[in-house]
Amino acid sequence: MQTVHYKEEIKEKVSKETFIDTYTFFAEYEEENGQPKVDLIFLEYKDFDIVIECFFDGLINFLINTENFPNLINENNFNDCIKFFFIETNITKGGLAKRKKGKYNSLRNINEDEFNLLINEISKIKLYYGNKYIQKLYTLIRDNFGSKLQNENNIFLCPYCERNYVNVIQNNTLLIKTDLDHFYAKSKYPFLAATIDNLIPSCQVCNMRLKKEKDFHLKKHSHPLKIEENIFTKIKFGRLDNETIHIKNKSKLKIEEQNYIETFRIEEVYNSHKEVVEDLLEKEKKYNYIKRKHILETCPSLDDKMLKDLVFHEYRNMDRSKVPMSSMKKDLFNLIIT
Ligand SMILES: [Zn+2]
Repeated sequence: MQTVHYKEEIKEKVSKETFIDTYTFFAEYEEENGQPKVDLIFLEYKDFDIVIECFFDGLINFLINTENFPNLINENNFNDCIKFFFIETNITKGGLAKRKKGKYNSLRNINEDEFNLLINEISKIKLYYGNKYIQKLYTLIRDNFGSKLQNENNIFLCPYCERNYVNVIQNNTLLIKTDLDHFYAKSKYPFLAATIDNLIPSCQVCNMRLKKEKDFHLKKHSHPLKIEENIFTKIKFGRLDNETIHIKNKSKLKIEEQNYIETFRIEEVYNSHKEVVEDLLEKEKKYNYIKRKHILETCPSLDDKMLKDLVFHEYRNMDRSKVPMSSMKKDLFNLIIT
């Protein structure tokens, strides 16, 4: 999400929190005078990968400088292993301790004790960032600003699927908030857990059932809230036969767009809405060009555009931010209605 109006309010709220500084891996993004620099919270999506690399450089240097791992310093795979251990393990204490050295033949020169020390160090560091960013900063931002930011960004539909409503419902007796998904999973990149550009209000199907913990740093996916990356402005829906809704231009899309379609099962999910095709076919039968021509002959004050607007109102005047599956509806409308 983006923030325009709440930036100063968030800065003020965050600055009142205090955090204990244990490790400093972000030369540019870490604390100042014991307070977190707000840059990490307002970090832009385009800089995520740079910051992740910056973090891992810092982490690797830190581990090497402890002098606990002299045999690993010159090992080619050391850096990759550190990243892998950090990314692939749970934040819970001991998540790494279950790992067995035997699985990591690439770490040739390391003995059992060094291996255990290494994974314990990484485990501690991950836990530190988990405690710091997930439990404090993330909760603070989610609870105080989640709904405000969602309303500010005019998010009514799940940005991942544009199929389910995720609007905030709030009155004196009712408050229904939306799940905030982490575009880059918080279990893998806890230091991005409170980054506003990393928060996507999303439906439970996309968040809990389809995306889960998939790693969007290692396997690129289009960002649904970046206008230039929005998948639904790029895909073209069609019909394979009378029955099946599919994406016509899938093979021409970029790899991150294809990954998105695969992860969120866009074809299967949209294909479950055959009622859209049925409705259009029914309307085409009743109001095709020939039938409209007959109607127009009896009503000379009407023209075809006006008649189409009347009959196909819900297909011709869709507000994409509020009408579920509007890109599919628009494409099928253009395909079926003559
Ligand atoms: Zn969704």
